[in-house]
Amino acid sequence: MGKPTGFLEFERQAESYEPKEQRLKHFHEFVRHLKDDEAKTQGARCMDCGIPFCNNACPVNNIIPDWNDLVYKGKWRDAIEVLHSTNNFPEMTSRICPAPCETACTLGINADPVGIKSIERAIIDKAGENGWVLPQPAAQKTGKTVAVVGSGPAGLAAAQQLARAGHEVTVFEKNDRIGGLLRYGIPDFKLDKRLIDWRMAQLQAEGVKFQTRTLVGKDVPAGVVNDARKVVAPAKLMKDFDAVVLAGGSETPRDLPVPGRELGGVHFALEFLIAQNKQNAGGRKNAIDVAGKHVVVIGGGDTGSDCVGTSNRQGAASVTQFELLPRPPEQENKPLVWPYWPTKMRTSSSHEEGCSRDWSVATTAFAGADGRVKSLKAIRLDWKDGKMAEVPGTEFDVPADYVFLAMGFTNPVATMLDAFGVAKDNRGNARATTDGRGCYATSVAKVFAAGDVRRGQSLVVWAIREGRQCARAVDEFLMGTTTLPR
Ligand SMILES: Cc1cc2nc3c(=O)[nH]c(=O)nc-3n(C[C@H](O)[C@H](O)[C@H](O)COP(=O)(O)OP(=O)(O)OC[C@H]3O[C@@H](n4cnc5c(N)ncnc54)[C@H](O)[C@@H]3O)c2cc1C
Ligand code: SF4
Repeated sequence: MGKPTGFLEFERQAESYEPKEQRLKHFHEFVRHLKDDEAKTQGARCMDCGIPFCNNACPVNNIIPDWNDLVYKGKWRDAIEVLHSTNNFPEMTSRICPAPCETACTLGINADPVGIKSIERAIIDKAGENGWVLPQPAAQKTGKTVAVVGSGPAGLAAAQQLARAGHEVTVFEKNDRIGGLLRYGIPDFKLDKRLIDWRMAQLQAEGVKFQTRTLVGKDVPAGVVNDARKVVAPAKLMKDFDAVVLAGGSETPRDLPVPGRELGGVHFALEFLIAQNKQNAGGRKNAIDVAGKHVVVIGGGDTGSDCVGTSNRQGAASVTQFELLPRPPEQENKPLVWPYWPTKMRTSSSHEEGCSRDWSVATTAFAGADGRVKSLKAIRLDWKDGKMAEVPGTEFDVPADYVFLAMGFTNPVATMLDAFGVAKDNRGNARATTDGRGCYATSVAKVFAAGDVRRGQSLVVWAIREGRQCARAVDEFLMGTTTLPR
């Protein structure tokens, strides 16, 4: 372990943020990573407590106590080796993972948990700066070919593992750039898109080929972005490749079919967020410009928070966020819930930048004039035994020039799964198990599924896990045996 008495001597030190007045003027990342000596001190706080609950809580099972110790000892190069042994893209997770590992840290029972995510970031940033992240092309090629549909974290992780196992991998992506929601969805101020390009160059050097603007399957529904100029039929992929991995995400947004939904100014969250990502990358100006306008965000999760941060950066006059569920408790009951992820009040950096938040609120209608939304009509809810009821007499209106629907995603695009003839579970996801022989295999021979397309809208770190594990299953299917890690 690091320093046996470290957890008694040192306080947790969080990464610092650029002051909000400054960061609101731009869309760049604003969280500064720990300096070397700070990360070392933080690594010293790890107790190497025997049963590493953190390692178990991390979906990719990062070997956290080991790299904490290596950072404490200044063995940075060894630390990145250990980190990369379980996680293909720590530059992503160390920026945007909600860090369930820290919730499970033993030190967190009665003190501040180890700042695991900040140490992870210090390791990968240092490795990147020092040129330690090099391509690892396979020593031998197998002659087998694999098509990966979708270039989000699940598709990229699967592609990298499969290429390293010696297979010829081609990634098909309907949008104009690689990255899935990492590229188009998650704002630049949370994740610098140059990191995706950097990692993509590594994959290319390892032999992965990318075909962008290429839709596999049929049309996509309204609300789903599609930059494709070319369509490839599933039958062609089935003919040309030895295996296919579906990693198309869960892109169908949940709608709010109340009166006035058709009014101008009411948008799905990703219509706003993706257009902003594209503008930031040098593309066309975001057609949704909320400068000086009243914005209402419906939905209290990550996507909603990203709409808040983006609206404030554009200069909105006011930003209000409504959530259907009741306000969670400020603090969890730790003895009851540790080491599991608790329901508690979470305030993001975007919320801190300016947002009025309200809970137990249902939207009943949008009202407007000349085809554009002007206000939102809502009512308060009473929650009892998990059931909600409208409270009569609590109706209210708020001004709304723009409304962003950020209420999650219901299922993957069905046309893609149907085009392959893949069986779905009762939530409309591609049906496949995650354990045992035949895991990640769909109902169609040689077609596999990983990430949000299989588990429903989730987290980047889960997508990476599924991509890695799916690659192992594909390798075993193609070769009869595999040495890829699970
Ligand atoms: C706004 C927003 C913010 C989020 N913030 C966070 C966060 O902070 N932290 C976190 O951990 N998670 C976050 N998430 C969730 C996370 O981004 C996803 O769980 C993760 O990206 C899923 O990865 P994936 O590879 O399965 O799918 P995706 O990232 O959705 O990638 C799927 C890709 O497949 C492509 N595709 C789909 N169908 C086809 C087809 N037929 N042909 C060709 N290409 C196709 C799509 O264009 C897309 O590029 C957020 C999600 C959203 C929407
Ligand atoms: S990937 Fe997420 S859960 Fe795993 S160590 Fe990093 S921050 Fe923690």
